[in-house]
Amino acid sequence: MTILTDKDQTARKNHKCIWCGDPINKGELYHLNTVICDLDEFCSGKYHLDCWKAGCSDPYLMEDGFEVYSFARGSLLEKQYQDEPDTRTV
Ligand SMILES: [Zn+2]
Repeated sequence: MTILTDKDQTARKNHKCIWCGDPINKGELYHLNTVICDLDEFCSGKYHLDCWKAGCSDPYLMEDGFEVYSFARGSLLEKQYQDEPDTRTV
């Protein structure tokens, strides 16, 4: 895996955090991480700074990849969806 970009920068337009799915607003500082994955595939991720920090605390997760937008902001916990408890099962 080759890292092309790994830095904090200011958003020039609105983005969506790949970690938590929340918006990164224009003018906000965010973390840009661009790598060459397998087969010259190009992967780019934009993260809130706190989300990036959370992701980096688990190197295996970053290595193996993760499901985008599936975490709570700044946390390694998966998002809790406010679904009704499944009480329909008989
Ligand atoms: Zn985020």
